[in-house]
Amino acid sequence: MHSLFYFVHILSVVSWVPSILAESICDGACQLGTILKPLLPLLSPNASIVYSSSAAPRWSEFDEPTPGAVVNVATEHDVLVTAGGNAWADTFNLGQKDITINLRALNRIEFNQNRTRVTIQGGTIIQELINSAYLNDARVPTGNSNCVGVLGSTLGGGVGRLMGLYGLGIDNLMSLNIVTAQGIALQVDAQKFPDLWWALRGAGANFAIVTSATMKSYPVAKPENGAWTGSLVFAEDKIEALVDSINRLDLQPEMAIFLYYASTGPPNNNPIVLVNPYYIGTTEDGKSAFSTIYSIGPVAEMTAWTPYNETNDGSNPFCVKGGRKPVHSAGLARLHAPTWRAIWNEYVSFLETPGVGNSIILVEGYSMYAARRFSDSSSAYPFRETVNFHAAAMPWYYNSSIDAQALAFGSRVRDLWRSTDGLEQNSTYINFAFDDSPSTVYGENLPKLRELKRIYDSLGQFDQFFPLS
Ligand SMILES: Cc1cc2nc3c(=O)[nH]c(=O)nc-3n(C[C@H](O)[C@H](O)[C@H](O)COP(=O)(O)OP(=O)(O)OC[C@H]3O[C@@H](n4cnc5c(N)ncnc54)[C@H](O)[C@@H]3O)c2cc1C
Repeated sequence: MHSLFYFVHILSVVSWVPSILAESICDGACQLGTILKPLLPLLSPNASIVYSSSAAPRWSEFDEPTPGAVVNVATEHDVLVTAGGNAWADTFNLGQKDITINLRALNRIEFNQNRTRVTIQGGTIIQELINSAYLNDARVPTGNSNCVGVLGSTLGGGVGRLMGLYGLGIDNLMSLNIVTAQGIALQVDAQKFPDLWWALRGAGANFAIVTSATMKSYPVAKPENGAWTGSLVFAEDKIEALVDSINRLDLQPEMAIFLYYASTGPPNNNPIVLVNPYYIGTTEDGKSAFSTIYSIGPVAEMTAWTPYNETNDGSNPFCVKGGRKPVHSAGLARLHAPTWRAIWNEYVSFLETPGVGNSIILVEGYSMYAARRFSDSSSAYPFRETVNFHAAAMPWYYNSSIDAQALAFGSRVRDLWRSTDGLEQNSTYINFAFDDSPSTVYGENLPKLRELKRIYDSLGQFDQFFPLS
């Protein structure tokens, strides 16, 4: 009772903001300070409100959101949203009169006794969940990078290397505790509020603040809880053979594979081709599952069986906050070797620009067997039936004078992918999207999502991440 009172107050203060501001005479931050001051006594003792200059660093500074204030919540009852701070979408449009709510302190994780279920709070990041799952002799399907918000990634669909065994992140959700745009706390699942349940699983950021989620967890004895993974390095003349071979792989549930164009970094920025195979099982079985890739002849190999709590560590360098990273991405039904040669040429020429040596191109291939137990219309995630690969071009640099060149590069590469994607329509996973249109991220589900948006968030309070209003 007491806590619901807090919710209502917090959210109604937020929704008063525009009308109060219109009448006020001081500037954005000053107005917010005046408005938010009465909120402080309503928050729990460890919560705080900070003004934009002290907001947490984000993964990409390219066109980053700059709200006037951030409310750092300390309990589920303090709420509103920003979790891992990783989204690179170009749709954020927050100004000095806007507020975000930082869920990061909400990171409690609780497994049930037989480890088949886990409840996580809304600001938990992947590293925290994986560490806790490993300690509890369990696995939980998440994304592949430690710094990312579990809910931020799951609510858009949730792709990751456990997908072949367990499906998308959203397929593993059992119930969600949310705060709606009207400031009402609800528990939502397949039986209670089925239309909201449908929308939250794929377009979650547009419908509610998830304060905690209960997900399926899979018990695994510690000695088996890990995977064979690492990198194989190839000479660039193998690109066509590699691309054809990855395209032909029938990825079994234990398998996933990533292809990267990366660089050796400054000063030489030599471009290199890397393949990261992943196999949930022994080294021997992993090497055999990827025998067609080995037969192409890697020039170097750094692979090992790795405990589950360390399997994401290879991507830690991608987690570094800051810098400018306008990522352009595309879903693909297939890989087309001549396209990948053309993209290699684009990449090599982009690397000649001083200061872009960390830039990469990648494509992720996951086993789709488990995800395809459900149809595209089963949730708001629209591409499980058609998309087999997620490709991304990630320019990474520090000087805004390179922006135009980086945007042109990303856009050219994305166009190349789309020219041979094997799909009937442009299809980009919302969590990898940048400046993409609503139909590109929501596909055939767009009309139904817009209808539900009118019911559950008619004022567009949650309208920053690929808005539906
Ligand atoms: C290095 C890196 C690796 C990645 N790897 C993967 C991967 O393996 N798999 C994958 O699926 N994605 C991956 N992503 C993409 C990632 O899913 C998106 O960037 C996602 O938006 C990040 O969520 P966040 O909470 O970290 O970021 P934020 O910017 O904090 O949040 C992103 C959006 O989600 C909303 N949101 C966050 N938490 C909640 C909540 N509890 N309730 C309601 N809305 C919420 C926010 O309001 C915001 O609109 C990766 C991103 C990066 C930068």
